[in-house]
Amino acid sequence: MTHTGQCFCGQVRLEIDSEPLGARMCWCRDCQRIASGSATVNVLFPEAAVRYHGEITTLEKVADSGNTVERGFCPTCGSQLYSKTMKPTGLPMRVRAGTLDDPEVMPPQAIIWAASAPSWAVLDPALPHYPKGPPPR
Ligand SMILES: [Zn+2]
Ligand SMILES: [Zn+2]
Repeated sequence: MTHTGQCFCGQVRLEIDSEPLGARMCWCRDCQRIASGSATVNVLFPEAAVRYHGEITTLEKVADSGNTVERGFCPTCGSQLYSKTMKPTGLPMRVRAGTLDDPEVMPPQAIIWAASAPSWAVLDPALPHYPKGPPPR
């Protein structure tokens, strides 16, 4: 099944020819900044299955994990589209759940970087919480 999505203004569209590998909320400080205060909600897919159409601006930064992470966003509307780990390689691509046409594709299975969440954050107690990054796959 192909999953589809787009940014807020519609300039960027995406198609994904894969079922998700997982989904999680991330409360790292980088995600709080790009998500304007909340966690990011990310659905994981094999990078080779994700195709974007349209103009994307990318920004590479060393994350709290020490990994070098590229984040892609729409230069017109600013919607955050994805993050992918450039170093080390081989990790799944994280597609922002809100950009999927169907945000029910997979609900979060875990909360990562829970220790960085502000005191007012509501963290679902039914989900596993990891104080920092996800456990090794
Ligand atoms: Zn846009
Ligand atoms: Zn994060």
